[in-house]
Amino acid sequence: MKIAVIGAGIIGVTTAYELAQDGHEVTVFERRLAAAEEGSFANAGLVAPAYTTPWTAPGMPFKIISHLLSRHAPVRVRWPLSRSELGWMWKSWRACQPDTYAANRQRMQRLASFSRERLHQVSADLQLEFDRSEGHLVLLRSAKDHALMQTSLQVLREAEVPFKEISPEEARKIEPALNPDTSFDGAIHLPQDEVGNCRQFALLLKNEAQRLGVNFAFSTAVEAIEAGTGEAASGLTLKVAGEAELQRFDAAVLCAGVDSARLLRPLGLKIPLAAVHGYSISAAIREPLNAPRSAIMDERYKVNIARLGQRVRAAGTAEIGGEPDQQRAGTIQTLYKVLHDWFPGAAQISSGVQVWKGARPMLPDGPPLLGASGIPGLWLNLGHGASGWSLSCGSARALADLIGGRTPAVDLEGLDIHRLKL
Ligand SMILES: Cc1cc2nc3c(=O)[nH]c(=O)nc-3n(C[C@H](O)[C@H](O)[C@H](O)COP(=O)(O)OP(=O)(O)OC[C@H]3O[C@@H](n4cnc5c(N)ncnc54)[C@H](O)[C@@H]3O)c2cc1C
Repeated sequence: MKIAVIGAGIIGVTTAYELAQDGHEVTVFERRLAAAEEGSFANAGLVAPAYTTPWTAPGMPFKIISHLLSRHAPVRVRWPLSRSELGWMWKSWRACQPDTYAANRQRMQRLASFSRERLHQVSADLQLEFDRSEGHLVLLRSAKDHALMQTSLQVLREAEVPFKEISPEEARKIEPALNPDTSFDGAIHLPQDEVGNCRQFALLLKNEAQRLGVNFAFSTAVEAIEAGTGEAASGLTLKVAGEAELQRFDAAVLCAGVDSARLLRPLGLKIPLAAVHGYSISAAIREPLNAPRSAIMDERYKVNIARLGQRVRAAGTAEIGGEPDQQRAGTIQTLYKVLHDWFPGAAQISSGVQVWKGARPMLPDGPPLLGASGIPGLWLNLGHGASGWSLSCGSARALADLIGGRTPAVDLEGLDIHRLKL
């Protein structure tokens, strides 16, 4: 089939690769100059199936309210919110019901486990070399943080995820550079979690996709998707910026991150997708002995610190509302504070720090949308929220199987558009 993929973030690139693997003729439309320039640019890099859960968990609304006034809050609301953002908040609130949360958590974790397997397989088959390391330590600053963690640990037990509750001394053996002056109550060690550079992977896989014949049309924005009518009902046409003639395809996959909702609206599909912004700072490692070996998560501030090759990256915070290009200095300070608390002297922060603000394309209840859109020929692979890197390879493989008329190797119950009851 002749298939268009809209968007070359991690989701679009993995989708294009899998479709080309299946022998389709694929064109990727990307408005930017290169792949992974938006939400997939400098994320925390965590591939952690156990941690791939909806943010809309029971008790979350209370946690958000209790953080609203604190200086280093992990979640921030930038007022005023638009009507659609308010609607999204309301739907998120409702998704915090225990039963809804439990169902969505299962859906996400199932896809995340499948996705990690596919990531490993693709990386091994293609011998992709990108910055990555294994192991994830969740650091708990106080006894209260430790107590609050117990519900999550029960979830891990139920999912049979290997983890160990360890003392600060044991944690320091796993991450010897942890600041001796920062005391903490304990840690959770997840040996099977890993961290990897999402953008590097996307660029390497893009090259492999090109080798399979995928055409990447960069600096090319899709302005509209038009459903086929009459004799051409089985196909779709795309209106590309600056081109008078419409381009026709047998099928298209929408992977346009936070902009997907805008492209779907004229087709009558109102997807509640919000941009939940986050930040990262990345800097060259100053002294390897002072840097983390792999990934750590400060559970109180929800900030990840990871080693990515010769660099160290701190990432986190969730900002609802506000402008994509306005960076909040206070939030960036939180990242510096947490990095300094745990690994002082690890990074060269006097110069050359890359500060990034990116958008998580987030649906109000957590899982992505994966499958047919209801419009003939138009497929969806979007809304991966805080876990797009963790879910990318599995989502792409499963979608390629659906398009090819095969049953995917992972159960996709609840991931299609019917979940949203539009
Ligand atoms: C601070 C932060 C930390 C994160 N940490 C993690 C983590 O540890 N693990 C994890 O799994 N995930 C993490 N994420 C989430 C992850 O980064 C996202 O889920 C993922 O990058 C989304 O990928 P995407 O391809 O859907 O979107 P994007 O990467 O944004 O790609 C969409 C692409 O579509 C293009 N596009 C849009 N509209 C059009 C159009 N009309 N025509 C042509 N092109 C178009 C855009 O230019 C863009 O390149 C984090 C996110 C943030 C912000």
